[in-house]
Amino acid sequence: MTHSSLSSAPARLTVLAGPTAVGKGTIVAELRRRHPELFVSVSATTRGPRPGEIDGVHYLFVSDGEFDRLIDSGQMLEWALVHGAHRYGTPRGPVQAELDAGRPALLEIDLAGARQVRASMPTAQLVFIMPPSWDELVARLAGRGTEDARERERRLATARTEMEAAQEFDHVIVNDTVAHATDELEKLLGIKG
Ligand code: 5GP
Repeated sequence: MTHSSLSSAPARLTVLAGPTAVGKGTIVAELRRRHPELFVSVSATTRGPRPGEIDGVHYLFVSDGEFDRLIDSGQMLEWALVHGAHRYGTPRGPVQAELDAGRPALLEIDLAGARQVRASMPTAQLVFIMPPSWDELVARLAGRGTEDARERERRLATARTEMEAAQEFDHVIVNDTVAHATDELEKLLGIKG
């Protein structure tokens, strides 16, 4: 049996970004399986839930008005309009509470959001998840079958722009296999085994 320890990890914010369908969600799910105690921020979003998504677990599903209120009251650490469609943002309070308690915190957000975190919290480490190839990314997006052709085109256009920004990040992890990418992320978080 292996024990993970967060106590030796630096209490800092790690921001995970990368293009659509690169597998960020799968990597974070594997990381949580290995480290159930790790704090992963639950974002607020104005998009509706997909089948199987639970309010408060996968996202906080909020109305446009509620999202406005969160921004206006200073409760968003960062937020962005993603894929030109819906707004997504990180509630500040829970993240700050983890960091104040000396525990690491993980955000999985888009490029615009990552840039905002970098500006407001310069000690955050930014990690970019890269697909093994462009063709692989296109195949993964088509394969998961959750978006129609038009939405896929929109997401691929965003992905192209995002991949050009990889050099702004502190670390790049190639998602060749989930196990390997998760190993790499564990090392960066300082929570290996
Ligand atoms: P999806 O609609 O597929 O769940 O997510 C679309 C995109 O929104 C993902 O690329 C994800 O990184 C981004 N996203 C999710 N939560 C946040 C957030 O809190 N802030 C920002 N800026 N982007 C987010």
